[in-house]
Amino acid sequence: MYIAVASGKGGTGKTLVSTSLALCAGECAYVDLDVEEPNGYIFLKPVIEKEIRCELPVPQIDEQVCTFCGECAKACAYNALMVMKQLKKTLFFADLCHSCGACAYVCPVKNALKEVKRTIGKISTGKTGTVKFIEGRLDVGRPSGVPLIACIINDFLDINDLLIVDASPGTSCPVVESLKKSDYVILVTEPTPFGLHDLELTIEIVKELGKEAGIIINKDNGRSALIEDFAARAGIPVLLKIPYSMDIQRAYSEGIPLIEAQPGIKEKFKEILKKLTAGIGQ
Ligand code: SF4
Ligand code: SF4
Repeated sequence: MYIAVASGKGGTGKTLVSTSLALCAGECAYVDLDVEEPNGYIFLKPVIEKEIRCELPVPQIDEQVCTFCGECAKACAYNALMVMKQLKKTLFFADLCHSCGACAYVCPVKNALKEVKRTIGKISTGKTGTVKFIEGRLDVGRPSGVPLIACIINDFLDINDLLIVDASPGTSCPVVESLKKSDYVILVTEPTPFGLHDLELTIEIVKELGKEAGIIINKDNGRSALIEDFAARAGIPVLLKIPYSMDIQRAYSEGIPLIEAQPGIKEKFKEILKKLTAGIGQ
């Protein structure tokens, strides 16, 4: 089962929730797909066993063979190639390239354009107790985390595991990629107008993907029913409210998992896992 933990923006407590779920699950795999800023390791403190570089194909043009016809640049939807016929020069902007392969496909001249590998990030695997740990980390300056996320989902996950996935934040392509194969999405939010705004956007994606979802309200101060009212209107269950507490904030800043900072909350996470694994949406 693939449980994705998502939020409309960073800093709402997505990692707080996903690491707590993983530690409560006993045997599971924690997967950090927040590849631009993975930080689950701070709380889980895994022993890393393997590190694998993730590589993608990018074009390399041999200007001795190239006829400067410009077909490759024309085919590139991302403006990553420029061909200057009169100067007999080509320019490749690696940071714009999405490794789609269109340039190599359309090039009519044999051996003018070949694909070479370019590293985009690193995948680390390891263990913390009985929890398997998998983390993607995008190299600085790479344009998109999507290929790295797809590589982890397709090649590094065992579908027989209970997968607790710390999804990318936001509402763009990386979060869509992180949620696509999920069986259930836990949306973490805060009881503020900003929290509600981001939650509404993320729910649009979840609906579009046809996923079941539940909400966890973080930093609940007991004074606002903003999220609960919205959840009732949208027909989405509120699974848990995590109180606003200086103890939790202090523990978070020191890399102490929530279930250690608030031992009483462990049973509530176990209850959520029990319900989700017994039957999605119950
Ligand atoms: S399509 Fe091939 S031959 Fe034409 S400019 Fe590009 S690399 Fe050169
Ligand atoms: S692989 Fe795709 S994105 Fe990259 S240069 Fe070629 S056509 Fe453009």
